[in-house]
Amino acid sequence: MNKNVPILLANPRGFCAGVDRAIDIVQRALEIFGRPVYARHEVVHNQFVVESLRKRGACFVDELDEVPCGSTVVFSAHGVAPSVWAMAKKRKLKVLDATCPLVTKVHLELMQHARAGRTVILIGHAGHPEVVGTLGQFDHSFGGSVHLVETISDAQTFMPGKNQGLAYVTQTTLSVDDTAAIVAILKRRWPDIIGPVKKDICYATQNRQEAVRALARQCDLLIVIGSVNSSNSNRLREIAERSGVESYLLQSHHDIEDRWLENKKSIGVSAGASAPEKLVQEVVAELCRRGAGPVKELSGAVEKVSFSLPRVLQKSQISA
Ligand code: SF4
Repeated sequence: MNKNVPILLANPRGFCAGVDRAIDIVQRALEIFGRPVYARHEVVHNQFVVESLRKRGACFVDELDEVPCGSTVVFSAHGVAPSVWAMAKKRKLKVLDATCPLVTKVHLELMQHARAGRTVILIGHAGHPEVVGTLGQFDHSFGGSVHLVETISDAQTFMPGKNQGLAYVTQTTLSVDDTAAIVAILKRRWPDIIGPVKKDICYATQNRQEAVRALARQCDLLIVIGSVNSSNSNRLREIAERSGVESYLLQSHHDIEDRWLENKKSIGVSAGASAPEKLVQEVVAELCRRGAGPVKELSGAVEKVSFSLPRVLQKSQISA
């Protein structure tokens, strides 16, 4: 590879407040209640995080019927449908809810539309756990309905039928640009459609996408650290690619290939909201080992968001 190829680090990158909180919940639960603490699905979409929690005594399951009655279970940051809560109650499980408050915000919007009998469009990706949990919030007994729209073509062809008003909500980790294009079509077709007062795409997703957009203007190779099933990490790689920059999504430094580095003038590095900084630093160290450097932190939005733990896990509650 070329000599003196700078490594530019996106800011912000990596963990968001919702992921921080979800990991804290599992760790605190292990400290307070002891092993095992069960978690329904990956508590956040990152294999490294899941493995390190597993080593400390967390036990990950696909469904609640794998959890012994009366045990402690954590629901993931992506949120769950009410049917999952009902199942937990039936099995007398102690639930610690790690649903990100910004996902709960979308749940509340959807529930409000359902009670008003509206037809609601959920913009999101089919099968993603957040989408499954959000769709499950909809109460059909008021006569409304909910429909998933994934693409521009879905937005162009969707037919709502008779309704008492039309509304939309979105998954929190979508591409800001793609979602804006879909919303523009919905608003053109139905100017009265009701949308969220404040965007459903969360601050962390927006900030990381903005940072990667800026980074892509300064590099000719962009590495995003994150899991293949992490929605926001995939969106970051797409943004770089659409900016015309060669880009790769990596789980860890072991995935770096020498051919990517040939003839590059500047290498950008970012990480999805569920990827720990440790993985970023390992990627940087590996790039330096192969001859890249110096390393430069770019400036970007300063994030001061934090979410409190469930009361039962707060230190003041334990000592009280
Ligand atoms: Fe919450 Fe956004 Fe983080 Fe998801 S990416 S956990 S919605 S802050």
